[in-house]
Amino acid sequence: MSRQRVVLSVLVLVLLCGAAAAAEPALPNVVVLATGGTIAGAAGSDVQAGYASGQVGVEQLLAAVPQAKNLAVLRGEQISNIGSQDMNDEVWLELARRVNELVAMPDVAGVVITHGTDTIEETAYFLNLVVKSKKPVVLTASMRPSTALSADGPLNFYNAVAVAANRDAAGRGVLVVINDWIHGASSLTKTSTTAVQTFLSPLSGLVGTVAYGEVEFYRGPVGRNTVDSEFSLDGVTTLPRVDIIMAYENVDGALIDAAVAAGAKGLVIAGVGNGNMTQEAVKALAAQAKKGIVCVRSSRVVTGRVGRNVELDDDALGFVASLGLNPQKSRVLLRLALTKTKDLKQIQRYFDEY
Ligand code: ASP
Repeated sequence: MSRQRVVLSVLVLVLLCGAAAAAEPALPNVVVLATGGTIAGAAGSDVQAGYASGQVGVEQLLAAVPQAKNLAVLRGEQISNIGSQDMNDEVWLELARRVNELVAMPDVAGVVITHGTDTIEETAYFLNLVVKSKKPVVLTASMRPSTALSADGPLNFYNAVAVAANRDAAGRGVLVVINDWIHGASSLTKTSTTAVQTFLSPLSGLVGTVAYGEVEFYRGPVGRNTVDSEFSLDGVTTLPRVDIIMAYENVDGALIDAAVAAGAKGLVIAGVGNGNMTQEAVKALAAQAKKGIVCVRSSRVVTGRVGRNVELDDDALGFVASLGLNPQKSRVLLRLALTKTKDLKQIQRYFDEY
């Protein structure tokens, strides 16, 4: 072959390779932050009910779902390895800090967080209020440990990566992907102690669905979030204490007063019905409100709104109504609210907008 022909052939080869590379866009970079939970849990046998959360490290999690490498370039970091019943402020602040760092990196397309199901709705909602990016931040979990028959973790993880790698996931707030459904952080709640189909978004519905990596979005999440949120952790090293008190038949004010004595700056009542409680509890709560403790009425009922001034005169009693937020999410919002203000009108506005 003449020298000219060799040069020509090499040129054609280079052009062909370039065209092939151009046809196949590079996979997005997704970082996996592991916090523990049943998705990282292990039991002694595949049919054992008892198991320990947070046994499997992030590298093992990634290795267990090699198919996810077809969706994104993955790398993992271990933030904690705890059952989410042990989730705490230290892990929250570290997790939020790291997520904010990662989403600020130009080469990171999205973040997946593995978590336990017990408090995933609280962590998701917390991040929804303090992450400052439109990039996808997707939490996932499982109800069955990695060693169980029909473990649900691997497919949940695969689907979470698919959502985090999907461009249309951007700008929808922090999402939770579990059992083929995509939930908004403000809407989802755990409804069954053991069933795989435990998470629902009962009041406002799903953001989308994802089946074997096929993502479909229906709408955005409800409420202000991420880049539109007024809340930030800049300069925040501790969060104020807020306790949840449940209402029930014959409840009195003892636990309300005890919570304040323990240092609560805010209280959320998981009320009966539309955020109700006995007259005695109302009296104790109103007395605390008068002293400057911010008191929010939510409901122990799994769905429905708690309206302002419906059966109780919130204006006169100095209470805030949780509107669409359940008690555990009301607590998250109130803690962040108290880092900014104690003004009841402003806090009621937060509940209206977030
Ligand atoms: N207790 C576990 C946890 O929240 C339950 C789970 O992950 O499903 O970590």
